Amino acid sequence: MIYLDAAATTPVRRDVLEAMWPYLTGEFGNPSSHHQLGETAAQALAAARASVAKVFGCRAGDITFTSGGTEAANLAVKGIALARQAANPTHHRILISALEHPAVLESARYLAHRHGFVVDVLGVDPDGMVTPAALAAAIRPETALVSVMYANNEVGTIQPIRELSAVARKNHIPFHTDAVQAAAYLPLNLKDLGVDALTFSGHKLGAPKGSGVLVASGRLAMEPTVHGGGQERGRRSGTENVAGAVGLAAALSRTRGEAPQQATEVAALRDAFIRAVTAAVPNAVLTGHPSQRLPTLASFCFPGTSGEAVLLELERTGVICSSGSACAAGSDEPSAVLLALGLDPAVAQTAVRFSFTAAISSAELTTAAQAVGAAVARVRGTGTAVRPG
Ligand code: PLP
Repeated sequence: MIYLDAAATTPVRRDVLEAMWPYLTGEFGNPSSHHQLGETAAQALAAARASVAKVFGCRAGDITFTSGGTEAANLAVKGIALARQAANPTHHRILISALEHPAVLESARYLAHRHGFVVDVLGVDPDGMVTPAALAAAIRPETALVSVMYANNEVGTIQPIRELSAVARKNHIPFHTDAVQAAAYLPLNLKDLGVDALTFSGHKLGAPKGSGVLVASGRLAMEPTVHGGGQERGRRSGTENVAGAVGLAAALSRTRGEAPQQATEVAALRDAFIRAVTAAVPNAVLTGHPSQRLPTLASFCFPGTSGEAVLLELERTGVICSSGSACAAGSDEPSAVLLALGLDPAVAQTAVRFSFTAAISSAELTTAAQAVGAAVARVRGTGTAVRPG
Protein backbone atom coordinates (compact mmCIF):
# COMPACT_ATOMS: atom_id res chain seq x y z
CA MET A 1 0.00 0.00 0.00
CA ILE A 2 1.17 3.52 -0.78
CA TYR A 3 -0.60 5.79 1.71
CA LEU A 4 -1.19 9.26 0.26
CA ASP A 5 -3.90 10.47 2.63
CA ALA A 6 -1.87 11.91 5.51
CA ALA A 7 -3.97 15.11 5.49
CA ALA A 8 -6.86 12.91 6.64
CA THR A 9 -4.89 11.17 9.35
CA THR A 10 -1.57 9.54 10.20
CA PRO A 11 -0.69 6.44 12.19
CA VAL A 12 0.46 6.90 15.78
CA ARG A 13 4.25 7.07 15.92
CA ARG A 14 5.90 4.31 17.90
CA ASP A 15 7.91 6.77 20.03
CA VAL A 16 4.67 8.67 20.73
CA LEU A 17 2.88 5.51 21.80
CA GLU A 18 5.81 4.66 24.08
CA ALA A 19 5.62 8.11 25.68
CA MET A 20 1.87 7.63 26.26
CA TRP A 21 2.00 4.03 27.47
CA PRO A 22 2.63 4.67 31.20
CA TYR A 23 -0.42 6.95 31.40
CA LEU A 24 -2.65 4.34 29.82
CA THR A 25 -1.47 1.65 32.22
CA GLY A 26 0.33 1.95 35.58
CA GLU A 27 0.15 5.74 35.93
CA PHE A 28 -3.55 5.95 35.20
CA GLY A 29 -4.45 8.59 37.79
CA ASN A 30 -6.91 11.42 37.42
CA PRO A 31 -4.89 14.67 37.47
CA SER A 32 -7.45 16.25 39.81
CA SER A 33 -7.01 13.54 42.48
CA HIS A 34 -5.12 14.39 45.69
CA HIS A 35 -3.01 11.27 45.96
CA GLN A 36 0.23 10.13 44.41
CA LEU A 37 -1.33 8.57 41.31
CA GLY A 38 -3.22 11.79 40.63
CA GLU A 39 -0.14 13.88 41.33
CA THR A 40 1.90 11.87 38.80
CA ALA A 41 -0.79 12.34 36.15
CA ALA A 42 -0.96 16.09 36.93
CA GLN A 43 2.80 16.34 36.53
CA ALA A 44 2.68 14.56 33.16
CA LEU A 45 -0.07 16.91 32.00
CA ALA A 46 1.92 19.95 33.16
CA ALA A 47 5.00 18.72 31.34
CA ALA A 48 2.97 18.15 28.14
CA ARG A 49 1.52 21.65 28.47
CA ALA A 50 4.95 23.20 28.94
CA SER A 51 6.32 21.27 25.96
CA VAL A 52 3.51 22.46 23.65
CA ALA A 53 3.85 26.04 24.96
CA LYS A 54 7.56 26.00 24.10
CA VAL A 55 6.77 25.25 20.44
CA PHE A 56 4.46 28.27 20.29
CA GLY A 57 6.69 30.55 22.36
CA CYS A 58 3.86 31.16 24.81
CA ARG A 59 3.03 30.46 28.46
CA ALA A 60 1.83 27.08 29.64
CA GLY A 61 -1.40 28.77 30.80
CA ASP A 62 -2.17 29.63 27.18
CA ILE A 63 -2.54 25.95 26.23
CA THR A 64 -5.97 24.28 26.43
CA PHE A 65 -6.10 20.59 25.64
CA THR A 66 -9.23 19.49 23.77
CA SER A 67 -10.61 16.37 22.12
CA GLY A 68 -9.27 17.40 18.71
CA GLY A 69 -9.08 20.10 16.07
CA THR A 70 -12.84 20.33 15.72
CA GLU A 71 -13.46 20.94 19.41
CA ALA A 72 -10.58 23.41 19.60
CA ALA A 73 -11.96 25.40 16.65
CA ASN A 74 -15.46 25.35 18.17
CA LEU A 75 -14.04 26.74 21.41
CA ALA A 76 -12.03 29.43 19.65
CA VAL A 77 -14.75 30.61 17.29
CA LYS A 78 -17.79 30.37 19.55
CA GLY A 79 -15.89 31.13 22.74
CA ILE A 80 -14.27 34.34 21.53
CA ALA A 81 -17.26 35.60 19.52
CA LEU A 82 -19.72 35.01 22.38
CA ALA A 83 -17.45 36.68 24.92
CA ARG A 84 -17.04 39.70 22.63
CA GLN A 85 -20.79 39.88 22.06
CA ALA A 86 -21.44 39.63 25.81
CA ALA A 87 -19.05 42.53 26.44
CA ASN A 88 -20.51 44.63 23.61
CA PRO A 89 -23.75 43.54 21.88
CA THR A 90 -22.84 45.51 18.73
CA HIS A 91 -20.09 42.91 18.08
CA HIS A 92 -22.35 40.55 16.20
CA ARG A 93 -20.49 39.82 12.95
CA ILE A 94 -17.96 37.12 12.30
CA LEU A 95 -15.59 37.13 9.36
CA ILE A 96 -14.25 33.84 7.98
CA SER A 97 -12.51 32.83 4.76
CA ALA A 98 -14.32 30.90 2.03
CA LEU A 99 -11.89 27.99 2.56
CA GLU A 100 -12.62 27.15 6.18
CA HIS A 101 -12.97 23.57 7.38
CA PRO A 102 -16.44 22.65 8.68
CA ALA A 103 -15.06 22.92 12.23
CA VAL A 104 -14.91 26.71 11.75
CA LEU A 105 -17.65 27.13 9.15
CA GLU A 106 -20.30 25.26 11.14
CA SER A 107 -19.30 27.04 14.36
CA ALA A 108 -19.87 30.35 12.56
CA ARG A 109 -23.20 29.11 11.18
CA TYR A 110 -24.25 28.05 14.67
CA LEU A 111 -23.51 31.57 15.92
CA ALA A 112 -25.68 32.92 13.12
CA HIS A 113 -28.60 30.54 13.74
CA ARG A 114 -28.62 30.64 17.53
CA HIS A 115 -26.97 33.90 18.58
CA GLY A 116 -27.92 36.42 15.94
CA PHE A 117 -24.50 36.76 14.33
CA VAL A 118 -24.00 37.71 10.72
CA VAL A 119 -21.36 35.60 8.95
CA ASP A 120 -19.25 37.51 6.42
CA VAL A 121 -17.22 35.35 4.03
CA LEU A 122 -13.91 36.50 2.59
CA GLY A 123 -13.39 35.45 -1.01
CA VAL A 124 -10.09 34.04 -2.25
CA ASP A 125 -8.14 34.39 -5.48
CA PRO A 126 -7.90 31.46 -7.97
CA ASP A 127 -4.88 30.09 -6.05
CA GLY A 128 -6.85 30.11 -2.82
CA MET A 129 -5.19 33.16 -1.26
CA VAL A 130 -6.90 35.61 1.06
CA THR A 131 -5.33 39.04 0.57
CA PRO A 132 -4.75 41.54 3.38
CA ALA A 133 -6.50 44.17 1.22
CA ALA A 134 -9.63 41.98 0.95
CA LEU A 135 -9.58 41.45 4.72
CA ALA A 136 -9.18 45.18 5.40
CA ALA A 137 -12.13 45.91 3.11
CA ALA A 138 -14.37 43.29 4.77
CA ILE A 139 -13.78 44.26 8.41
CA ARG A 140 -16.63 46.21 10.04
CA PRO A 141 -16.84 47.94 13.42
CA GLU A 142 -19.24 45.13 14.45
CA THR A 143 -16.80 42.32 13.58
CA ALA A 144 -16.27 40.21 16.73
CA LEU A 145 -13.71 37.76 15.31
CA VAL A 146 -11.72 37.01 12.16
CA SER A 147 -10.94 33.35 11.40
CA VAL A 148 -8.66 32.42 8.49
CA MET A 149 -7.07 28.98 8.26
CA TYR A 150 -3.27 28.76 8.10
CA ALA A 151 -3.08 26.07 5.38
CA ASN A 152 -5.95 24.52 3.48
CA ASN A 153 -6.68 20.82 3.85
CA GLU A 154 -7.94 20.30 0.28
CA VAL A 155 -5.54 22.31 -1.88
CA GLY A 156 -2.69 23.08 0.53
CA THR A 157 -2.58 26.85 0.00
CA ILE A 158 -0.73 28.63 2.82
CA GLN A 159 -2.18 31.98 3.87
CA PRO A 160 -0.07 35.05 4.71
CA ILE A 161 -1.15 34.81 8.36
CA ARG A 162 1.21 37.50 9.70
CA GLU A 163 -0.06 40.08 7.23
CA LEU A 164 -3.68 39.09 7.79
CA SER A 165 -3.45 39.12 11.58
CA ALA A 166 -1.80 42.56 11.40
CA VAL A 167 -4.89 43.90 9.65
CA ALA A 168 -7.17 42.46 12.35
CA ARG A 169 -4.92 43.78 15.12
CA LYS A 170 -4.96 47.28 13.63
CA ASN A 171 -8.74 47.12 13.92
CA HIS A 172 -8.61 45.67 17.49
CA ILE A 173 -10.32 42.45 16.42
CA PRO A 174 -9.19 39.01 17.69
CA PHE A 175 -7.80 36.70 14.99
CA HIS A 176 -8.07 32.90 15.03
CA THR A 177 -6.27 30.54 12.69
CA ASP A 178 -7.01 26.85 12.17
CA ALA A 179 -3.49 25.43 11.98
CA VAL A 180 -4.45 21.73 11.81
CA GLN A 181 -2.69 21.21 8.48
CA ALA A 182 0.11 23.68 9.20
CA ALA A 183 1.44 22.39 12.50
CA ALA A 184 4.04 20.00 11.10
CA TYR A 185 6.13 22.37 9.00
CA LEU A 186 5.10 26.02 9.17
CA PRO A 187 6.30 28.68 11.63
CA LEU A 188 4.30 28.51 14.86
CA ASN A 189 5.63 31.26 17.12
CA LEU A 190 2.45 32.93 18.32
CA LYS A 191 3.97 36.41 18.70
CA ASP A 192 5.57 36.30 15.24
CA LEU A 193 2.30 35.15 13.70
CA GLY A 194 0.43 37.88 15.58
CA VAL A 195 -2.62 35.66 16.12
CA ASP A 196 -4.79 35.65 19.23
CA ALA A 197 -5.90 32.03 18.95
CA LEU A 198 -4.55 29.04 17.06
CA THR A 199 -5.95 25.51 16.98
CA PHE A 200 -4.56 22.18 15.86
CA SER A 201 -5.01 18.45 16.11
CA GLY A 202 -2.74 15.59 17.18
CA HIS A 203 -3.70 12.91 14.69
CA LYS A 204 -2.20 14.69 11.69
CA LEU A 205 1.20 14.53 13.40
CA GLY A 206 1.46 10.97 14.64
CA ALA A 207 -0.51 11.40 17.89
CA PRO A 208 -3.83 9.61 18.44
CA LYS A 209 -7.16 10.81 17.10
CA GLY A 210 -9.09 12.70 19.74
CA SER A 211 -6.28 15.00 20.89
CA GLY A 212 -6.14 18.68 20.09
CA VAL A 213 -5.10 22.07 21.39
CA LEU A 214 -6.29 25.64 21.52
CA VAL A 215 -3.45 28.12 21.98
CA ALA A 216 -4.72 31.48 23.19
CA SER A 217 -3.66 33.92 25.85
CA GLY A 218 -5.14 32.97 29.22
CA ARG A 219 -6.24 36.62 29.41
CA LEU A 220 -8.33 36.51 26.22
CA ALA A 221 -12.03 36.55 27.15
CA MET A 222 -13.60 33.26 26.05
CA GLU A 223 -16.96 31.67 26.77
CA PRO A 224 -16.49 27.94 27.47
CA THR A 225 -18.35 25.52 25.22
CA VAL A 226 -18.05 22.50 27.55
CA HIS A 227 -19.18 23.04 31.14
CA GLY A 228 -18.38 20.94 34.18
CA GLY A 229 -15.61 20.60 36.72
CA GLY A 230 -13.59 23.62 35.58
CA GLN A 231 -10.52 21.78 34.24
CA GLU A 232 -8.22 23.56 31.78
CA ARG A 233 -8.67 26.82 33.73
CA GLY A 234 -12.40 26.65 33.15
CA ARG A 235 -12.02 26.82 29.38
CA ARG A 236 -12.66 23.14 28.81
CA SER A 237 -14.18 21.05 31.56
CA GLY A 238 -13.85 17.29 31.70
CA THR A 239 -11.23 14.89 33.04
CA GLU A 240 -8.19 15.51 30.93
CA ASN A 241 -7.02 12.95 28.39
CA VAL A 242 -3.59 12.71 30.01
CA ALA A 243 -2.16 10.10 27.65
CA GLY A 244 -3.57 12.03 24.66
CA ALA A 245 -1.95 15.26 25.85
CA VAL A 246 1.37 13.49 26.46
CA GLY A 247 1.14 11.92 23.00
CA LEU A 248 0.27 15.17 21.29
CA ALA A 249 3.13 16.99 23.01
CA ALA A 250 5.58 14.25 22.06
CA ALA A 251 4.35 14.15 18.44
CA LEU A 252 4.51 17.92 18.09
CA SER A 253 8.00 18.35 19.53
CA ARG A 254 9.41 15.38 17.60
CA THR A 255 7.82 16.38 14.30
CA ARG A 256 8.96 19.98 14.77
CA GLY A 257 12.46 18.81 15.66
CA GLU A 258 12.70 16.91 12.38
CA ALA A 259 10.84 19.49 10.29
CA PRO A 260 13.53 21.97 9.21
CA GLN A 261 15.61 19.46 7.23
CA GLN A 262 12.60 17.43 6.08
CA ALA A 263 10.49 20.29 4.74
CA THR A 264 12.83 21.11 1.85
CA GLU A 265 13.34 17.47 0.93
CA VAL A 266 9.67 16.56 0.99
CA ALA A 267 8.76 19.71 -0.97
CA ALA A 268 11.18 18.58 -3.69
CA LEU A 269 9.50 15.16 -3.75
CA ARG A 270 6.10 16.86 -3.97
CA ASP A 271 7.26 18.97 -6.93
CA ALA A 272 8.63 15.90 -8.72
CA PHE A 273 5.29 14.15 -8.10
CA ILE A 274 3.37 17.14 -9.51
CA ARG A 275 5.56 17.07 -12.63
CA ALA A 276 5.10 13.31 -13.02
CA VAL A 277 1.32 13.49 -12.65
CA THR A 278 0.98 16.38 -15.09
CA ALA A 279 3.15 14.45 -17.56
CA ALA A 280 1.05 11.30 -17.12
CA VAL A 281 -2.27 13.18 -17.36
CA PRO A 282 -1.68 16.08 -19.78
CA ASN A 283 -4.84 18.05 -18.95
CA ALA A 284 -4.53 17.59 -15.18
CA VAL A 285 -5.20 20.82 -13.30
CA LEU A 286 -3.09 21.47 -10.21
CA THR A 287 -5.32 23.18 -7.64
CA GLY A 288 -4.12 25.60 -4.97
CA HIS A 289 -1.17 27.96 -4.97
CA PRO A 290 1.77 26.89 -7.19
CA SER A 291 4.42 27.68 -4.56
CA GLN A 292 2.73 28.80 -1.31
CA ARG A 293 1.48 25.30 -0.62
CA LEU A 294 2.06 22.62 2.00
CA PRO A 295 5.21 20.61 1.25
CA THR A 296 3.23 17.41 1.74
CA LEU A 297 0.17 17.99 -0.42
CA ALA A 298 -0.57 17.93 -4.16
CA SER A 299 -4.16 18.22 -5.37
CA PHE A 300 -5.50 17.96 -8.89
CA CYS A 301 -8.63 17.94 -10.98
CA PHE A 302 -8.75 15.42 -13.81
CA PRO A 303 -11.36 16.78 -16.24
CA GLY A 304 -13.43 14.09 -17.91
CA THR A 305 -13.36 11.76 -14.89
CA SER A 306 -15.00 11.59 -11.50
CA GLY A 307 -12.71 12.06 -8.51
CA GLU A 308 -14.40 9.18 -6.71
CA ALA A 309 -13.93 6.82 -9.68
CA VAL A 310 -10.21 7.69 -9.92
CA LEU A 311 -9.91 7.18 -6.18
CA LEU A 312 -11.42 3.70 -6.41
CA GLU A 313 -9.23 2.76 -9.38
CA LEU A 314 -6.17 3.88 -7.43
CA GLU A 315 -7.21 1.93 -4.36
CA ARG A 316 -7.45 -1.20 -6.50
CA THR A 317 -3.76 -0.74 -7.33
CA GLY A 318 -2.79 -0.05 -3.72
CA VAL A 319 -2.59 3.75 -3.82
CA ILE A 320 -4.67 5.34 -1.06
CA CYS A 321 -5.69 8.97 -1.47
CA SER A 322 -8.84 11.05 -1.16
CA SER A 323 -11.26 12.92 -3.35
CA GLY A 324 -11.39 16.68 -2.95
CA SER A 325 -14.29 16.61 -0.56
CA ALA A 326 -12.94 14.17 2.05
CA CYS A 327 -14.47 16.17 4.88
CA ALA A 328 -17.91 15.99 3.30
CA ALA A 329 -17.60 12.22 3.01
CA GLY A 330 -20.55 10.64 1.29
CA SER A 331 -21.50 13.94 -0.30
CA ASP A 332 -21.88 14.22 -4.06
CA GLU A 333 -21.62 18.00 -3.94
CA PRO A 334 -18.49 19.50 -5.46
CA SER A 335 -16.14 20.88 -2.82
CA ALA A 336 -17.04 24.39 -1.63
CA VAL A 337 -13.30 25.13 -1.44
CA LEU A 338 -12.79 24.35 -5.13
CA LEU A 339 -15.86 26.38 -6.09
CA ALA A 340 -14.46 29.30 -4.05
CA LEU A 341 -11.30 29.05 -6.20
CA GLY A 342 -13.55 29.64 -9.20
CA LEU A 343 -13.48 26.12 -10.61
CA ASP A 344 -16.39 24.94 -12.71
CA PRO A 345 -18.56 22.56 -10.61
CA ALA A 346 -18.12 19.78 -13.20
CA VAL A 347 -14.33 20.11 -12.97
CA ALA A 348 -14.43 20.43 -9.16
CA GLN A 349 -16.13 17.04 -9.02
CA THR A 350 -13.02 15.45 -10.53
CA ALA A 351 -10.72 16.43 -7.63
CA VAL A 352 -8.21 14.07 -6.07
CA ARG A 353 -5.92 14.97 -3.18
CA PHE A 354 -2.57 13.32 -2.51
CA SER A 355 -0.98 14.02 0.88
CA PHE A 356 1.90 12.38 2.67
CA THR A 357 4.44 12.76 5.44
CA ALA A 358 8.20 13.12 5.23
CA ALA A 359 8.40 9.32 5.50
CA ILE A 360 7.30 9.01 1.86
CA SER A 361 9.94 7.90 -0.64
CA SER A 362 10.70 9.11 -4.12
CA ALA A 363 10.09 5.55 -5.45
CA GLU A 364 6.62 5.43 -3.87
CA LEU A 365 5.66 8.74 -5.44
CA THR A 366 6.99 7.67 -8.84
CA THR A 367 4.90 4.48 -8.65
CA ALA A 368 1.88 6.47 -7.50
CA ALA A 369 2.19 8.99 -10.38
CA GLN A 370 2.26 6.13 -12.90
CA ALA A 371 -0.78 4.59 -11.20
CA VAL A 372 -2.58 7.95 -11.45
CA GLY A 373 -1.95 8.11 -15.20
CA ALA A 374 -3.26 4.56 -15.65
CA ALA A 375 -6.28 5.11 -13.36
CA VAL A 376 -7.35 8.29 -15.14
CA ALA A 377 -6.97 6.58 -18.52
CA ARG A 378 -9.06 3.63 -17.32
CA VAL A 379 -11.80 5.86 -15.92
CA ARG A 380 -11.92 7.90 -19.12
CA GLY A 381 -11.75 4.81 -21.29
CA THR A 382 -14.40 2.82 -19.53
CA GLY A 383 -16.64 5.75 -18.67
CA THR A 384 -16.68 4.77 -14.99
CA ALA A 385 -17.40 8.37 -14.18
CA VAL A 386 -20.23 7.43 -11.89
CA ARG A 387 -19.86 6.75 -8.18
CA PRO A 388 -20.64 3.15 -7.41
CA GLY A 389 -23.11 2.59 -4.59
N1 PLP B 1 -9.33 21.78 10.49
C1 PLP B 1 -8.70 21.26 9.43
C2 PLP B 1 -8.06 22.18 8.45
C3 PLP B 1 -8.64 19.88 9.25
O1 PLP B 1 -8.02 19.38 8.17
C4 PLP B 1 -9.25 19.04 10.21
C5 PLP B 1 -9.25 17.56 10.04
O2 PLP B 1 -9.33 17.06 8.95
C6 PLP B 1 -9.88 19.64 11.32
C7 PLP B 1 -9.90 21.01 11.42
C8 PLP B 1 -10.55 18.81 12.37
O3 PLP B 1 -9.64 18.18 13.24
P1 PLP B 1 -10.06 16.86 14.04
O4 PLP B 1 -10.12 15.75 13.04
O5 PLP B 1 -8.98 16.67 15.06
O6 PLP B 1 -11.37 17.14 14.68
